[in-house]
Amino acid sequence: MQVEFDRDTCIGMFQCVAEWEAFERDEDAGKADLAGSEEVEEDLFVRDVPEDAELDAKFAARTCPVDAIVIYDDDGEQLIP
Ligand code: SF4
Repeated sequence: MQVEFDRDTCIGMFQCVAEWEAFERDEDAGKADLAGSEEVEEDLFVRDVPEDAELDAKFAARTCPVDAIVIYDDDGEQLIP
């Protein structure tokens, strides 16, 4: 499973931070940060989701009010949102 985080779309409501510890608050920027991710395009961050964090990652994606967090399965199919 993979997670993609669109930091440009993020509006810093920080609901995701409460769901998965990989999301951290950047109060100065008013944005979340996705720890351990790679910036694949400007402001677009991707990382693998460990098996034991899959549920948390899904909750983070579901709770984001602007759909800045997208979850893909191992075949590259979009699961959430
Ligand atoms: S829930 Fe969405 S908008 Fe809020 S900080 Fe996380 S990614 Fe950004």
